[in-house]
Amino acid sequence: MSSRVTGNTGEWAMLGQNAPMDLPTQLSPIPGADGLFLWHPRHAGAWGYANCLWIVSEGTAALIDTPYDGPTTRAMLAAAEATFGSPRVAIIATTHSNGDHSWGSYLLPGADVIATHASQAHPGMEPTPQDMQALLSRTSPDEPLGWYMRRHFGSFDFASARMTHPTITFSERYDFAVGNIEVELHEVGPAHHAGDLIARIGDVVCAGDVFFSEHHPCHWTGPLQKVVQACERILDLNPRIIIPGHGRCTGPQELSAHIEYLRTAQREIRDRFEAELSAAEAMDDITQRNLFPGLGSPERFISLIAVEYRHLRGDATEPDLVKITEHTAQWAFNQHVYLNRNTGNGITPLSH
Ligand SMILES: [Zn+2]
Repeated sequence: MSSRVTGNTGEWAMLGQNAPMDLPTQLSPIPGADGLFLWHPRHAGAWGYANCLWIVSEGTAALIDTPYDGPTTRAMLAAAEATFGSPRVAIIATTHSNGDHSWGSYLLPGADVIATHASQAHPGMEPTPQDMQALLSRTSPDEPLGWYMRRHFGSFDFASARMTHPTITFSERYDFAVGNIEVELHEVGPAHHAGDLIARIGDVVCAGDVFFSEHHPCHWTGPLQKVVQACERILDLNPRIIIPGHGRCTGPQELSAHIEYLRTAQREIRDRFEAELSAAEAMDDITQRNLFPGLGSPERFISLIAVEYRHLRGDATEPDLVKITEHTAQWAFNQHVYLNRNTGNGITPLSH
């Protein structure tokens, strides 16, 4: 944990050559927290651009999460190089096994990769990079799924992404140090995914995808009560700064408001389940009532209905992430077609 700078500056700079446009060229220091720097890609409304936290002390670094593909990870490494040089990355903690938080880890060989046991217990749940590439290249751009995949995932190069298996797994709690900075990992899943963890570094908490800011979240495993409990665990740690999986950094007040959002979502979805509405009917009804004004990416609400309906039906099978994405794409496509037909004419959502 006390290794010095390894001097691979040129390698990192070269790795950044194919960086996608519009990504940050510097990391942002976390105010009032020595040694913490954030890669914040500012694409909260797009899929796949997750926040990654760098913890840097005494010439060594740890990362909480890595980007989705090779070019984006190389862009982050170049931004880190421009910000503080190139300390040896000794540890990567992966908040959960979605590729947008982990598929760039292979570009940091030699780092220990830490994840929860539970995140590794569902190997078939996550689409592979090859699956994602096929969803982009073997679907029709005129069909909902192909249209949505190209629109939201088309900037990624999944041929350059790799699944990386953890070298260390744990349950409940795992602590480590980076130089003189203490890091606590707390298991809070299942919630967003099967084995979520959050990271606490002093009064800063990295929430992973149990918390999205600015836009509707998507959740795969749930039920939403588990996501609420995970968010409450974060508040119990009394954080000053909370870094969501996606979106800008916030504090406890915003997370409390998000918990209220989740509780409202739970209640509204349950009401419609009990009224025997299908998931698609529930989505349309909730959309028409405009229950959540001001939040972007409304189509992600489909995933919340999916996790709650599975729970309310007592369905304990693993969620089908591609199927949920297909339903999400179908709804977004319907909206897109409708909006194109009715531009500027008092738009209301489509009904089935
Ligand atoms: Zn994510």
